[in-house]
Amino acid sequence: MDFVKFGNKYVLRLDKGEEIVETLKEFCTQQGIKLGWIKGIGAVGEATIGLFETKEKEYHSVDLKGDYEITSLLGNISTMNGETYLHLHATLGDSEYNVQGGHFSRGVISATGEFVIESIEGEIDRKFDQEIGLNLYKFK
Ligand code: FE
Repeated sequence: MDFVKFGNKYVLRLDKGEEIVETLKEFCTQQGIKLGWIKGIGAVGEATIGLFETKEKEYHSVDLKGDYEITSLLGNISTMNGETYLHLHATLGDSEYNVQGGHFSRGVISATGEFVIESIEGEIDRKFDQEIGLNLYKFK
């Protein structure tokens, strides 16, 4: 991974073999980014995407293997219990030009990854919401 910073924006290159979520999380922690947005494109050889089932209040996920284009990865940065918290979604395109997408929890770069992180001055924490079953933004 390498990056350059322009104002409040960071442009990152992730390299072959790097796991996206862990790399981005570590980067935000190291840079002290507590609030912001992430967007990116690239290629992965392995990925895990999921769907939150609202009735059961749990994530169901699928592991993908093969060549996939990250046609779009979008997500946000916040904190929970003082730790960096990333919430990422992605769509992945396969060799048949079909796209699958969902809550993005893991992806290993197979060629390169190009990301922009936009840092927002501030901090928003999260709290688990019993009724919804998710860690929601906590504004008060
Ligand atoms: Fe999600």
